Amino acid sequence: MHNFNPGPSILPQEVFEEAGKAVVNFNNTGLSILEIGHRTDAFKAVMDEAISLVKELMQLDDHHEVMYLHGGASTQFFQVPMNLLNETEIAAYTDTDIWGAKAIKEARLFGHVEVVCSSKEAGYTYLPKQFSVPKTAKYLHITTNNTIYGTQWQDLSLFYNAGVPLVADMSSDILSREIDFNKFDLIYAGAQKNLGAAGVNLVVASKKILGKVNRKIPVMMDYRNHIENGSLLNTPPVFAVYVCMLTLRWLKKSGGVAAIQKINHEKSTLLYETIDSLPCFKGTVAKEDRSKMNVCFVMTDPVLENKFLDECKQNGIIGIKGHRTTGGFRVSLYNALPLESVKVLTQLMKSFAEKNF
Ligand SMILES: *Cc1c(COP(=O)(O)O)cnc(C)c1O
Repeated sequence: MHNFNPGPSILPQEVFEEAGKAVVNFNNTGLSILEIGHRTDAFKAVMDEAISLVKELMQLDDHHEVMYLHGGASTQFFQVPMNLLNETEIAAYTDTDIWGAKAIKEARLFGHVEVVCSSKEAGYTYLPKQFSVPKTAKYLHITTNNTIYGTQWQDLSLFYNAGVPLVADMSSDILSREIDFNKFDLIYAGAQKNLGAAGVNLVVASKKILGKVNRKIPVMMDYRNHIENGSLLNTPPVFAVYVCMLTLRWLKKSGGVAAIQKINHEKSTLLYETIDSLPCFKGTVAKEDRSKMNVCFVMTDPVLENKFLDECKQNGIIGIKGHRTTGGFRVSLYNALPLESVKVLTQLMKSFAEKNF
């Protein structure tokens, strides 16, 4: 199978195999990973490694803490403002996709939101680069890769001089390219795209920005409690964290972020070049903003789209149907997707174009 699913999505084959073994017999303990206590030394070692691999792969400085939390990225949409924004204060948000829009909606429950730029009117087909951030903003929130519409901020340094703490939803491009992660004060990512199994969130936060709001925060919602307890405040999503650890190990072994960035570049270049060379396909977003993770395109003759999807299915290619709000195609090229799969897809696109146009 060639799995281009947008999320949950493909993980490295060896991660599936290792995780499968651990469900039956974890590290030769005779017990399943699903039946051991989360406070055992065996699981603590998993959590420690999952945290330290993130620090290493992201090259984080000592101000940054790593957490594994429940609730998916959507929980971060409200947990972030709950921890960082007082009711009378302003937070700045970029509106570049449905996910960013949802984050804006949740932040409004906790304080004032100023939307500093939006491409909503243009159907989120480009990234608006002219914006100014109020100096009084408590933070600026961005979405680094826009999963549904297929745009990605290629030059993140645009945000580094905003003069306010920087918060990023990196759910769909975390650890896919070299970024100076220390420039961000808070990063979050649902695991099920580039990192591991659904059911856990990676959150990286600078200690400097925490503890400054005056509202009461429920114990489970306060980042500081999770940091203090090493993400073992309550029962963590044990298996999901384990799968993240295995995926992070794989990434390190494969040469880390620099090496995966190269492969991701190769995959996306091959696909975009194929789209641009075949008149029957058309990319849907501004070229300079094209995502290397989620490639969105349509057919000039939409009537043939289902026929193409059928042929894909016959060739073991799955998960390329566009989001229900956009139609067309969305091909997700997350870290674990091999270049070989992109070759199979682009070959089929070429032969389909020859036969039908
Ligand atoms: C998938 C996704 C989300 C939502 O993640 P959940 O874990 O389902 O809540 C949020 N933001 C981005 C950028 C995403 O790609």
